[in-house]
Amino acid sequence: MRAHGDARVMSRHPDPPQRQADAARVRRIVATLARAYPDARLALDFSSPLELLIALILAAQCTDARVNEVTKSLFARYRTAAEWARVPQEVLEREIRSTGFFRQKAKTIRACCQQLVERYGGEVPRRLEELLTLPGVGRKTANILLGNAFGIPGIGVDTHVGRLAQRLGLTRQTDPDKIEAEITPLIPSRDRVRFCHLIQTHGRLVCTARRPNCPECVIASLCPYPDKTPTAEPRTRPKRSRWVG
Ligand code: SF4
Repeated sequence: MRAHGDARVMSRHPDPPQRQADAARVRRIVATLARAYPDARLALDFSSPLELLIALILAAQCTDARVNEVTKSLFARYRTAAEWARVPQEVLEREIRSTGFFRQKAKTIRACCQQLVERYGGEVPRRLEELLTLPGVGRKTANILLGNAFGIPGIGVDTHVGRLAQRLGLTRQTDPDKIEAEITPLIPSRDRVRFCHLIQTHGRLVCTARRPNCPECVIASLCPYPDKTPTAEPRTRPKRSRWVG
């Protein structure tokens, strides 16, 4: 028997023709955004799976630009999982302080790298199930890592992908794992990593959280909410001033 919660989730799934229409719309969204942002890529700098893993842990509640600033010198100093695992907690805390939540992040990085050394010979594993057992690695991080470091297709639902998937009417879910499950089948596997890069870029430049710029949006005709830009005008029409006319 299906659990109550499952039934509610299932009942919100669009019907199959609607899903087909959404999949076709996603293909056009990808094509349009690819023309608008031909250089879209992951904003974090890295040159190996290990570096990307560290950068993703540091990126929690921090801008990618700040993470890149911090990792520039760190990646030159620490090159292997064993080296990261050996950095004393207080030293690492000091080095990553500007990324915020530095105590927890330092602890997570050291524990994660220790696991890599003990269980995977210092290498970052290529399987989702294995990545998910590492400290600090959830589905978002694992999918971004697989897609960008190993070329294994997946949807990493970060803040931009989650917000735009909702705005574009591709899901009504709010939980990132459920969003991933619902939108992944809509996107051909060859386009999944690129979809994320394009959506992240569009989310940063145009469809921002506070003020989506719908009049300038290249996918407005493919969006069910093309009038989301808040106006400066008051919601209700002001009373005609007694000084006018
Ligand atoms: S039309 Fe507006 S809400 Fe829709 S994707 Fe574009 S900016 Fe975002």
